[in-house]
Amino acid sequence: MDSAGKSFKIVPLDKLNSDVQHLITMSTLAREKAYCPYSNFKIGAALQCDDGTIFAGCNVENASYGLAICAERTAIVKAVSEGKMKFTKIAIAGLNNNQFVSPCGACRQFLSEFNNVNDDVAIYLYQPKGSNVLVTSISELLPMDFKFNEIKDYLNKIY
Ligand SMILES: [Zn+2]
Repeated sequence: MDSAGKSFKIVPLDKLNSDVQHLITMSTLAREKAYCPYSNFKIGAALQCDDGTIFAGCNVENASYGLAICAERTAIVKAVSEGKMKFTKIAIAGLNNNQFVSPCGACRQFLSEFNNVNDDVAIYLYQPKGSNVLVTSISELLPMDFKFNEIKDYLNKIY
């Protein structure tokens, strides 16, 4: 956290490591594949695993609105279904009135399921064609995340 209490920083795209820039490019390419005829709100995500593998995802909407799946969860499900569960970083590309698009609550919880507190998943928010990137992490975006083991420990104590 900086002195203003913000738990993120804004970094020029060209100052980030080349692997992060590549991940961001992958998220912008995934965004182009978004299926969002109802909202026209395109989002792309690119998730990097600890072995360097990258899984990209886009949002996929449905005529039954509640069935829509976010880009972040698309990428995570693709990775997990390929046997990858250790993630190092995720880039998310979206445009919303000149603001960075941050993962929704469901995606934060979904990502935290695979987060290791000692090796926090870095999050890079990017506006396509922008020159800056908002850099944060899942533990910063979702403090006190729900973990089943904590509930299990609690239940073991009271029963
Ligand atoms: Zn989401």
